[in-house]
Amino acid sequence: MSPELQEQLFEKYPDLLPERRTEAPRTPLDERGIECRDGWFNLIKSTLEVIFQGQKWNNVGKVKVTQIKEKFGHLNIYTSASRVLSNNTYVIGVLRMASNASFRVCEVCGNKAEFRDHVYRQSLCEMHNLEYLLEQDRKNQ
Ligand SMILES: [Zn+2]
Repeated sequence: MSPELQEQLFEKYPDLLPERRTEAPRTPLDERGIECRDGWFNLIKSTLEVIFQGQKWNNVGKVKVTQIKEKFGHLNIYTSASRVLSNNTYVIGVLRMASNASFRVCEVCGNKAEFRDHVYRQSLCEMHNLEYLLEQDRKNQ
């Protein structure tokens, strides 16, 4: 994700996305930032907002995001809550919803998408899928 968009998220959610550490122990988020394209910016922002609101109003415990990445064409957000089940089922549920929703959001532009089972699985809108296919054709010529 572009540094400018990442910065917006880090500024808006400092408790969920703590300042990136430069010394050990470092999370994947510290090391590599948000590892997906810009199209999922709003989806990630909404997801963080729902968790933030849950913490504010619904007694959801403290959570820190440790990784945000695209994997096999869908969004994965990992947090410090992932392994603690008790009162973090809220967070785990929100993260699963975001992951499922990402199949329908173009990872390039944020428009309505379909899951594309290419060599690299991707969630792409019609236009970006076409662009991808044309690029593949060019490479194969
Ligand atoms: Zn698109």
